[in-house]
Formats: sequence, structure tokens, C-alpha cells
Amino acid sequence: SVILSAGLMGPLMIAFSYMDDIMKMQAIFGEVTEIIEREDMVRPDTLTKQPVGSDITLRNVRFSYKDKEILHGLNMDIKQGEVNAFVGPSGSGKSTIARLIDSLWDVDEGSITFGGVDIKELPLDYYTSKIAYVAQDNYLFDMSVMENIRLGKAGATDEEVIAAAKATGCHEFILGLENGYDTIVGGAGGHLSGGERQRICIARAMLKDAPVVIMDEATAYTDPENEALVQESVAKLVRGKTLIVIAHRLSTIIDADKIFVINEGNVEAEGTHAQLLADCPLYKNMWEAHTMVKDDDRVDSVMGSDA
Ligand code: ADP
Ligand code: MG
Repeated sequence: SVILSAGLMGPLMIAFSYMDDIMKMQAIFGEVTEIIEREDMVRPDTLTKQPVGSDITLRNVRFSYKDKEILHGLNMDIKQGEVNAFVGPSGSGKSTIARLIDSLWDVDEGSITFGGVDIKELPLDYYTSKIAYVAQDNYLFDMSVMENIRLGKAGATDEEVIAAAKATGCHEFILGLENGYDTIVGGAGGHLSGGERQRICIARAMLKDAPVVIMDEATAYTDPENEALVQESVAKLVRGKTLIVIAHRLSTIIDADKIFVINEGNVEAEGTHAQLLADCPLYKNMWEAHTMVKDDDRVDSVMGSDA
């Protein structure tokens, strides 16, 4: 990875603005000052093994940043069409797992498969087209709303962009902006709330139309009235898709098909909310700490904040 100063961010954004690899961009801008580049990977140029469906499995996955092992032999089964939540303390490895599934880096040991095929045997552009990443910090680029959404699919028509905005319930609020779809956002422009920024990124992911959506939920929204709207947009985006969500909101967690409790780079437990409450002391503790401390429907620091 490369560290760049904030002053270089402007030109860099322009340089990346024509790329259709939105996951890479969002990973890059997911950290404030750290620029993470997709490492050079050996991948085939053509698709020789056709995945069947879009189940994702992790088998004995180990991963280190430099010398420090972060993931210690993970096994996960993520089923097509289900909502999968990752919960656990801050620093436990949730975002690292998401980045490995996004093929930003290669695993050190073990394997990740997509539709039964090791992702190392899939062309990178093929695989990355299957995954849409909605980051916690949603960086919009210094371009119009139209162009920001269009990043989801290179060459999409205005009609396709608007259809994606409508499908995620964003069309009305975009029309209400100063210059509608031509409003320049990103950087200092736009005067959008955090929720509005995230919804534009959700429309972008909808345009991409990938079967798998990875979402790093914001720990808190400064505008609570927008939070419900964000959740509605997400629900529309993920209909019929696989969702992998690093979850901070109780409603997301309670409704998940499968919750993975991540602790110190291991899957401590997995199951539904009810199963984990009964079987996983760590999960039960996190839950009880939350419900004692807070009355609203966020878990914030208790379930792990990813600042
Ligand atoms: P979580 O998302 O659960 O908060 P992360 O996956 O972000 O956890 O981090 C897991 C561990 O890896 C932490 O100890 C964190 O400090 C470390 N880590 C995360 N990203 C990097 C990086 N780019 N370089 C080195 N260490 C990192
Ligand atoms: Mg994180």
C-alpha cells in the first residue's frame, strides 16, 4: 500500500474518475490518508471455469498485514441470496475479511471460492463485476450526481442512471438538489448529508447490478431521519442478492439469515440472532451491554465501531 498526502487526492480522484472498478476506488478512499492499491495478482485472462451460482466460501483463510497475522484460519459459508452480518469488536478483522472477499488482496493460505471456483482461477474483471462494495465512508467524486452514479457501470446511459436512482428511491431527493442530477458533489460541493451521500453510492451499486453486495454500515448517521431512507434504499438494492454487511444496527442484525461473530481474527460463532443469544456468550454480552446502555436501535461502539 502507498501513503499519499491529502494534497495529492484531487489529481488522484480525476485520474481514477474514468475507471469502472468502483470497488477499488471505494477501498482506496475508505481510509482517510492511506491509499490501498489492489496488489498485483496472477489471474487468468479468460474465464475457463464457470462458477455455478454465487455462493462464497472461505476455507482455512489466513492473512497477515506485513508480519502480523490478522486472520487465523477462517471458515465461512455465505449462501446466495441471504443476508450475512459480520459483528464483533473493533479491530477483530471484519473489514479485512470484506476486502479479501472483494479480492483486493490475496489470502496467504487457504482459499475463497465463488460459485464453487477458487477466485484465483477467475479473471479479475469478471470477479470484480460480481461484487458491489458500499463503503462506510462514501466518497463521492468532484463530479455531478449523474457521473458519480455512472461510475457503477462504464458507459451507462442517463436513462440507466436515472432508473438505478429510481430503483433505490433516490430520484426524488436528487431532483430536489440545486441542479438535480447535474449538481456537483464530492469534496466541498453538494452540501449533502451523510445519508444522502451514502444513498448516491447505493444507487451506484444498483447500476452495477452485481449479485453480491458488501456493505460497511455507518456506525451512526448525523441525520436520523435519513437513516430510515438509507435502509429503504439498501433493501431495494439487495432484493434477491447476497448481502454481506458489517453491521452496527440492531434491525440489520436481528433480520440477518446468518450472523458471524468475529473475534480476534476467528469466527467465534455463527447463527441467527436467537441462536447466538442462546449459544454465544460474547454475542450475548454485546447484546446485553447494548440494550442496557442504549434505547435506540443502534449498536455503535458495543458491536464494534470501524473508525
Ligand atoms: P474491524 O473491521 O473488525 O474493525 P479490521 O479488519 O479493520 O478490523 O482490522 C483488523 C486488524 O488489522 C486490526 O488490528 C487493524 O489494526 C489491522 N489492520 C487493518 N488494516 C490494516 C492495514 N492496512 N495495515 C496494517 N494493519 C491493518
Ligand atoms: Mg472495519
